[in-house]
Amino acid sequence: CGIVGYIGHRQASPLLVEGLSKLEYRGYDSAGVAIIDNDKIQIEKCKGRLLNLEEKLEEKPINGVVGIGHTRWATHGEPSDINSHPHFNKDKTISVVHNGIIENYLYLKEWLTSLGYNFLTETDTEVIAHLVDYYYKGDIVKAVSQAVEKLEGSYALGVVSSNEPDKLVSIRKDSPLIVGIGEGENFIASDIPAILAQTRKVYLLEDKELVVLTRDNVEIMTLEGMKVEKEVFHVTWDA
Ligand code: GLU
Repeated sequence: CGIVGYIGHRQASPLLVEGLSKLEYRGYDSAGVAIIDNDKIQIEKCKGRLLNLEEKLEEKPINGVVGIGHTRWATHGEPSDINSHPHFNKDKTISVVHNGIIENYLYLKEWLTSLGYNFLTETDTEVIAHLVDYYYKGDIVKAVSQAVEKLEGSYALGVVSSNEPDKLVSIRKDSPLIVGIGEGENFIASDIPAILAQTRKVYLLEDKELVVLTRDNVEIMTLEGMKVEKEVFHVTWDA
């Protein structure tokens, strides 16, 4: 299971796939990407090897310079195309990748269903996409912070919204996640090898540090919105 995210000026699709391939050692049963293409989120995801995803993306390329990618190790819901990540809200304006387990997802699913949300998958992760949608009032950072306050369990998350195509939001708790710092581009990943071909400058994130990536900036803050100062970690080894 692994997460990769990219925001910059280069095509996201090949960078995401390459990053995910470096996380294959973690094990997985499905893979997918969500990329913002002309202010619309395009998703490709499928059960099986990363190669299946690559073939699909070759047949039907997705253009765009902001995106999130995922390899899944199914915990809730069988490995299938539909249960693969990224997941999304009803009008596909918000998309989420998640590693970990949401312990209280059944409770959240019932609550969101009672509010009129429809679930397409059997995953625990889908509640996050609808929760962010529920809290979204024009500020994706705020919506993600409010959504994670409701989550119990472990998570590393990458979230994008087509309403705010120049942002990538990320947060972790009890699941690994790092930030890769580039020039006019930035990355998130579950582990350093995923981004080592692109940069050697990283931030190592602690639990519940919320990260907002733009092309030119990485902002780390607490869930209460307090800025976190962090030293850049320079990777000296090779993958
Ligand atoms: N619990 C989630 C699922 O089953 C994420 C699994 C993972 O970490 O890949 O879809």
